[in-house]
Amino acid sequence: AITLDSLEFTNRFARLDGPFHAQVEPQPLSEVRLLHLNAQLAGQLGLDAGAAARDPDFVAAMAGNRKIVGGAYVASVYAGHQFGTLVPQLGDGRANLIGEVLTPSGEQFELQLKGSGQTPFSRFADGRAVLRSSIREYLCSEAMHALGIPTTRALSLVGASDPVQRERFERAAVVCRVAPSFVRFGHFEYFYFRNRHEEIRQLADHVIEAHYPHLAGFPERYAAWLSEIVQRTARLMAQWQSVGFCHGVMNTDNMSVLGLTIDYGPYGFLDGFDAHHICNHSDEGGRYAYDRQPVIGQWNCSKLLQATLPLLHEDPDQSVEIANAILTRYPADYMNQMMSLWRRKLGLVSEQEEDRELINRFLNLLDKGKSDFTRTFRALSNLRDGDDKPAMRDELLDQAAFDAWLPDYRARLAQDGQPEAERQQAMRAVNPKYVLRNHLAQAAIEKAEASDASEIDRLFRVLQRPYDEQPEFDAYAAEPPPEARHISVSCSS
Ligand code: AMP
Ligand code: MG
Ligand code: MG
Repeated sequence: AITLDSLEFTNRFARLDGPFHAQVEPQPLSEVRLLHLNAQLAGQLGLDAGAAARDPDFVAAMAGNRKIVGGAYVASVYAGHQFGTLVPQLGDGRANLIGEVLTPSGEQFELQLKGSGQTPFSRFADGRAVLRSSIREYLCSEAMHALGIPTTRALSLVGASDPVQRERFERAAVVCRVAPSFVRFGHFEYFYFRNRHEEIRQLADHVIEAHYPHLAGFPERYAAWLSEIVQRTARLMAQWQSVGFCHGVMNTDNMSVLGLTIDYGPYGFLDGFDAHHICNHSDEGGRYAYDRQPVIGQWNCSKLLQATLPLLHEDPDQSVEIANAILTRYPADYMNQMMSLWRRKLGLVSEQEEDRELINRFLNLLDKGKSDFTRTFRALSNLRDGDDKPAMRDELLDQAAFDAWLPDYRARLAQDGQPEAERQQAMRAVNPKYVLRNHLAQAAIEKAEASDASEIDRLFRVLQRPYDEQPEFDAYAAEPPPEARHISVSCSS
């Protein structure tokens, strides 16, 4: 095993020659403490997790209190459409890219500190992140990874004693995020709205060479590359919908060009199913409501395509035509992915014309009674073949509709002829028992704010195996208690 200082830094993005980033010193924090270390990810990077957790030099580096040998330490500039409005300059206001490392198994990951102090892109903000939001990001990004959903990841969570002013005084924390790249749609928008076509090309070439190597050198690579981003975005939206994940701030600066879930702010998982659920307290118009995520994903892709028009053709009219052709495929891509995920969630093997109606009837049933999204799909996974009054019926408000739906569902299952045990197992592998409900995160936050980080670890472990039964943790699969039902999360972080 190696230490942070013997990691092999490749720093491809940080070494780009151009106005993409600025070098920034992370600003130290006081009384830093390692609150959690992701041992599995540490191992993937080649680090000895046990040794790292005990090493004050490791903790200092993850706090931004010392620099890692070979690190680049840059903050990048981007723009973005926030709630539909172009903001011509944003950027890493509190994130500091340590650099990109080559792992022993040959993968390349960027390490980024979030909350490590001001940068040239902080605007009027303090460059810090509070413990509350850092715990939420740390736990959820790893929970999403365990669910099998593409996401940025989290290596470490460090707490500090420095006060940070939000609605109240809170304490500072730093998450070390990990992803192959943190390039967002907004990076391209920044250069497009400044008419800097050369930089758009340079950045696109970097992303293609580093992250879409199968397209590098290919003459029509830009169109192929953008098609793939659009496809990955459509797929990601379907995956979010399938587990009831609401992102909350789907601004174009929070959209990854690798199709990763990025920026865990006021996100939430559906408890009771409500298709119009809005998880972000500040999203008054419901622009980013659960059922709008797929169409917003498409709108965001249209903004990326606009920002990359100069790459597509010398003739602007032709560029627009190519871009439109790429975007046009989004709805079908999304629908195919979504139907395939709903089918799997219902345990349907073959594809039948009537599946869509069967699925919609089931979702309407949930919506009508605001039945718990996660629990109902999990209960359906455990349905026995001959059982006409399954326990899950009691959790549904519209039992008459369920009684009408069930025979049709059974008939459809019979068409596939999959044995009960096999179907149940396949369904449990796509219908999680455990998701990071807001009230669970809240409990871990309150303990940690009272200097007890143990609940972070417990929750982390449960969420590592979201599809497993784990009967000793049944309480984590329960509906939220009534007083915690409508936790609405603000953007403050
Ligand atoms: P978000 O809403 O989290 O996507 O953030 C939007 C922009 O605000 C990004 O450019 C962030 O870097 C920046 N930002 C958010 N919080 C802070 C902070 N506390 N200090 C500096 N910049 C911030
Ligand atoms: Mg953001
Ligand atoms: Mg954010």
